[in-house]
Amino acid sequence: MNRILVVEDEQRIAQFVRKGLRAHGFQPTVVDDGTAALQHALTGGYELMVLDLGLPGIDGFEVLSRLRDAGSAMPVIILSAKDSITDRVAGLQGGADDYMSKPFGFEELLARIRLRLREPAGRAGGGVAEPVLERRGLRLDAQARRVTVDGREVELSAREFALAEVFLRHPGQVLSREQLLSMVWGYDFDPGSNVVEVYVRYLRRKVGAERVETVRGAGYRLV
Ligand code: CA
Repeated sequence: MNRILVVEDEQRIAQFVRKGLRAHGFQPTVVDDGTAALQHALTGGYELMVLDLGLPGIDGFEVLSRLRDAGSAMPVIILSAKDSITDRVAGLQGGADDYMSKPFGFEELLARIRLRLREPAGRAGGGVAEPVLERRGLRLDAQARRVTVDGREVELSAREFALAEVFLRHPGQVLSREQLLSMVWGYDFDPGSNVVEVYVRYLRRKVGAERVETVRGAGYRLV
């Protein structure tokens, strides 16, 4: 079982990430300030850290820099509301392995965590998913972030990719708008928003309309 250190001072997000990770077989520990984050991280008892930047005490950038100075190579995924290019670059140059901005969808965070846990030795542990998902010629390589339809490569945006991945992980299953909203867009979206409909339309245009079926009154299904 993979032990994940989640550093997040916003309760709502911390709970959301903890719950999701537990549901997928991980063992998350949540801390809510930079000093505790560093103490936990330096024990070496975690396989990965999800790190917020805006933290009480020492901030996420400082946690990361002290961690790397101490020689730790633990994978770090920054999860931050700061989404400027400057912050991204600073995070990645500071030794983060990945950077996700809030609001985020849990499925995307999960995909990135799994990806980082597979590197560099390709070690497979609990909760690690198959990197390639396929259904009737629709093929998604989560590691390479590539999607092909009958061997032809299609360009998907990050959201379209996440949506395709959710469908491929639940083939034949009807997924409601609310489920898709929480899996792809996360906790932060207005349930009245039509963003799901819009993105299903985009996805159909790219992978073939017949692949994603509308189940009236219930949701959508990957055929
Ligand atoms: Ca924060």
